[in-house]
Amino acid sequence: MVESPFNPCEIPGRPPVLCAGCPHRGFFYELGKLKNVMVTGDIGCYSLGGNPPLNAKDTTICMGASISMGHGAQKAFDMANKEMRTISTIGDSTFFHTGINSLMHVAYNRSNTITCVLDNRITGMTGHQENPGSGYTLQGMPTKAIDIEEVCRAIGIEHVRTIDPLNLQEVRETLQWALSLYQPAVIIARWPCVLKKFSEEDKKEFGDYMGKCHIDVEKCTGCKVCLKTGCPALIYDKVSKKVSIDQVQCVGCEVCLQVCKFEAKNILLAGVGGQGTILVGKILSTALVQAGYDVKMSEIHGMSQRGGSVSNQVRFGKKVYSPIMIKGEADILVSFEQMETWRWMEYLKPGGKVVLNDYRIPSAPILSGKEDYPDGLTEKIAAGADTLIIRAAEIAEKVGNSRTMNIVLLGTLVKSMSLHEIDWESAISENIKPAMLEVNLKAFRAGMDANKN
Ligand code: SF4
Ligand code: SF4
Ligand code: SF4
Repeated sequence: MVESPFNPCEIPGRPPVLCAGCPHRGFFYELGKLKNVMVTGDIGCYSLGGNPPLNAKDTTICMGASISMGHGAQKAFDMANKEMRTISTIGDSTFFHTGINSLMHVAYNRSNTITCVLDNRITGMTGHQENPGSGYTLQGMPTKAIDIEEVCRAIGIEHVRTIDPLNLQEVRETLQWALSLYQPAVIIARWPCVLKKFSEEDKKEFGDYMGKCHIDVEKCTGCKVCLKTGCPALIYDKVSKKVSIDQVQCVGCEVCLQVCKFEAKNILLAGVGGQGTILVGKILSTALVQAGYDVKMSEIHGMSQRGGSVSNQVRFGKKVYSPIMIKGEADILVSFEQMETWRWMEYLKPGGKVVLNDYRIPSAPILSGKEDYPDGLTEKIAAGADTLIIRAAEIAEKVGNSRTMNIVLLGTLVKSMSLHEIDWESAISENIKPAMLEVNLKAFRAGMDANKN
């Protein structure tokens, strides 16, 4: 035998990985952090959740084994008084193929297992065939889409929740909810495979991925936490010790951004002089500093007393280096006036949110009849970005003082950014005169209530 000069063992391996933007990634990232759980797996793309760096699975045997194995193991743990829970992971098509029968036995035998149906709206690994949940037959004809949640309830599972697996906080909280029950529970993680051609129903339900994410190399500390998500679009450079994102592969799912503790959040407030924009910035800074964030704020309000544009940038995070954000960096634009929203839209990052106060203040050229106030701005803004339209002036009137419109918007902003665990009322009381405090606190609560998202 002739010895080959080519030894494949000398080159790095190439194990399969979940695609960039795969909806399973966020779910397995959170699952892999749980202690005292045994995770049983099944056959499909989500089998890859057991590979490093996710390491979120203990078994993968054959199609349909996940739920029955989890059920048996849970019974054994319970009989041995072991503080262990089993979590079974199965895809949507495998669930229809061989999972339902096992789940029925979980319900029948009252097994304390948690079953996670990773519903990527298609049959992923074997070639994107339709399945009973997709709403189309194998021949592509529209048909009845079988609802997984309804199936679970029909066979006797009382605790069922459907979640967005790209929202890590939602994944985390839902896993904790299921673990706290000690009863059969099902979590359906529903988001389409990133390679799927979206059906009309998908577009309606999920919209689209928002584009690309970027890492600010100046801010990246090289901590490598984002690499633990295993996204193949994340590239670590050994020389600079920084991570960058391959713009060809990235689809903007934002899973890596959610785990980066050093990523500063950027709030842009925009309004007209006299609307109380600067005061909102001050309250934001006070509360965020009290909550332990590093905060940098910058204001542009030179002509504000004369009805000019006012903007206020608040950046916060574990470490914030610069008080200035550049175009395309704002996570949220809170605008106090319609035209000012439009003026600052280019600062919004792809996928960022807009809180738009449906309120008009004509500027000097409009008042003098030289120009008209542009029509249709609200519709155009809402068509181009995730927009929450608020009639803050009406809400402020209702709480008893129209001048609290800015604090109404603060309440809406706090809810939009899920920052409601911070003690905002104390920060408001530090920045508002005692005589006006009560009405401003009412305005703040009304602003939070007005945000139903
Ligand atoms: S094909 Fe779809 S489900 Fe499979 S790894 Fe890629 S994105 Fe995930
Ligand atoms: S988690 Fe953030 S700071 Fe850490 S390496 Fe990734 S991008 Fe850089
Ligand atoms: S946003 Fe992050 S995790 Fe999502 S595809 Fe891009 S690099 Fe990967």
